[in-house]
Amino acid sequence: MNYKEALQHPLFKIISKSAKELGLDSYVIGGFVRDFILKRGDAKDIDIVAIGDGIKLAKQVAKQLPNKPKVQVFKTYGTAMLRYGDIEIEFVGARKESYTQDSRNPSVENGTLEDDQKRRDFTINALALNLSEANFGDILDPFNGIEDLQNKIIKTPLNPDITYSDDPLRMLRAIRFASQLDFTIEKKSLEAISNNSHRIKIITNERIVTELHKILESKKPSKGFLLLEKTGLLDYILPELTALKGIDEIEGQRHKDNFYHTLEVVDNIALNTNNLWLRWAALLHDIGKAPTKKFSKKVGWTFHGHEFEGSKMVYRLFKRLKMPLNDKMKFVQKMVFMSSRPIVLADDMATDSAVRRLVFDAGDYVDDLMTLCEADITTKNPKKFNKYHNNFKIVRDKIIEVEERDHIRNFQPPISGEEIMTAFNLKPSREIGIIKEAIKEAILEGDIPNEYEAAYKLMLEKGKKLGLKNEKG
Ligand code: ATP
Ligand code: MG
Repeated sequence: MNYKEALQHPLFKIISKSAKELGLDSYVIGGFVRDFILKRGDAKDIDIVAIGDGIKLAKQVAKQLPNKPKVQVFKTYGTAMLRYGDIEIEFVGARKESYTQDSRNPSVENGTLEDDQKRRDFTINALALNLSEANFGDILDPFNGIEDLQNKIIKTPLNPDITYSDDPLRMLRAIRFASQLDFTIEKKSLEAISNNSHRIKIITNERIVTELHKILESKKPSKGFLLLEKTGLLDYILPELTALKGIDEIEGQRHKDNFYHTLEVVDNIALNTNNLWLRWAALLHDIGKAPTKKFSKKVGWTFHGHEFEGSKMVYRLFKRLKMPLNDKMKFVQKMVFMSSRPIVLADDMATDSAVRRLVFDAGDYVDDLMTLCEADITTKNPKKFNKYHNNFKIVRDKIIEVEERDHIRNFQPPISGEEIMTAFNLKPSREIGIIKEAIKEAILEGDIPNEYEAAYKLMLEKGKKLGLKNEKG
């Protein structure tokens, strides 16, 4: 491989020149080099290591760039960052690290390139390209990272027990890379992760969530979640999911293993959507099943109300992980809460009114909800599989048909409260609510079309029944 190709961007020559002016060597290191070899497309974040003062180098580079970008200095970490177009470049001086028990933050001293490569998390992330004029584009690979890339293996440069214990975030990164790149974690490493899983407690929720997002964004997220489960990490991070594990049997009646079912649903939905929050909804759609599980002789296993319970758990889970408690969270809650609705529809023949109610309740998210429910079909019986998919297809067609005719999606009542007040010369009162509700119900039931005239007529009838007098007689 010709690594000079990785360095075609004019930036690299500028860095090279700046480093020379300061009399130091510099290298591109880590993810950028890895992703070039994997042909993962142009990375938008570039890491530069200087054998010397990284912050000084960043400032020197900034001076030479046409847009004269600002340099952001992170003094405590000895790093500096600047932006050039849509590229983010981070500079650091090569360092040697030693860790203490209770923190991810090591004490550091200046080091050689090799010292710096040693402190990297994985051999595939320790590759460096030389930027010095004389050796421009030479690769430095002291831990056989290239070979590990070819063999799709995740390995630590040093003893994995120490690497993971020093910075437990690396355990999540290992699993995230395995999932993202479809790599295997070396046995020694996997054992070390299992042994150190409890150390994840010192990692902030924000960091954990970043990695969870990346696992969920991978092509087959189950790969990551199975590894999280196997190493014991999932128990610390998302105990709501491990609580779904297992099959109970009473009097010969069994229920499915909702953990493995959930992972299948997530893999299914990953084939049909890149919407991260819809993928979250798939991951969490059944979490209410653990606390609501019951057995009765008559009906066997039930999970009554698990959708409502699950949607409440979504809030608590987001809060615990310090995820945003905004419209994204509400979206996930709504998907979980409504996750069984289309299934009921597809079981019977879906009536128009049932479809109108679904669209009314799901609003703009009705398509996402259908995508979730289709992913939820994990039956291994091909006859049932096809039947359910066909039924959902019919529901989808009906949604379009009903929507074209009745415009339920962003339902606005055809008659406003004010109009009702004027018509009957009312002050704000209970009757207005009753009439509005009656109109909405009549539209959803299909008794009247979603139109002004029909709604006005119904309003007059309802008002009369309530003993109200219309102004115009
Ligand atoms: P991506 O950018 O796709 O998330 P990356 O490997 O580039 O992957 P970054 O967080 O950008 O990840 O980190 C850049 C480089 O810094 C890594 O390639 C690795 O060499 C090193 N690195 C990052 N995090 C750690 C860590 N926790 N321990 C050791 N080295 C790390
Ligand atoms: Mg990176």
